[in-house]
Amino acid sequence: MKIILASGNKGKIKEFEKLMPNDEIIAFKEILGDFEVIEDQDTFKGNAVKKAQTIYNKITEYNNDTDIVVISDDSGITVPKINNEPGIYSARYAGENARDIDNNEKLILKLKEKHLDKTKAFYTACIAIVYKNETYTVHGWMHGNVISKQLGDSGFGYDPMFIPNGFENTLGELSHEIKKEFSHRSKALKLAKKVLDVIL
Ligand code: IMP
Repeated sequence: MKIILASGNKGKIKEFEKLMPNDEIIAFKEILGDFEVIEDQDTFKGNAVKKAQTIYNKITEYNNDTDIVVISDDSGITVPKINNEPGIYSARYAGENARDIDNNEKLILKLKEKHLDKTKAFYTACIAIVYKNETYTVHGWMHGNVISKQLGDSGFGYDPMFIPNGFENTLGELSHEIKKEFSHRSKALKLAKKVLDVIL
């Protein structure tokens, strides 16, 4: 089975290759080239579904091959005490093409404005799967706190500011192996695998 990922991220492709060792995992750009899907929905699920459905429709239109699966994901971090920011805007919190450091600095400013040194936060990952014109979605969450400074340089994105529940250190200070055991993405991937095992 050809599984097409609505992502060009090498890390995500590797994760799926490990999860589905008997299937061929292809990045959508290998088929569609420089094709962009605008993420303009107001939920993680809305954006994940839009990406997967748009790419599925485009590929089936081109190839007349409906025996494909398209998988997409959308993720981010939500901080309830600052109006649920950055949420779906996590990747572009400090503007289009913002770097992780810019986004983190903006989050630190927002926390300081509210005099918050540490407050509850959670990561969300939504995975959408489209197969034979049906759409399936699963979610995974990781709960903890964000702090108004960055500690460690492991992981990516907001990890140096995020302390998962049950730990004293940020994900920037903890190893990738530890994060993988309970991350929002790992949880969503496990559920996605269950869906794929049933539908394929
Ligand atoms: P995307 O789903 O790959 O577009 O990621 C959305 C954004 O959410 C990323 O650019 C990060 O800013 C943030 N994010 C999502 N998952 C994580 C994570 O595991 N660690 C840190 N930041 C994350």
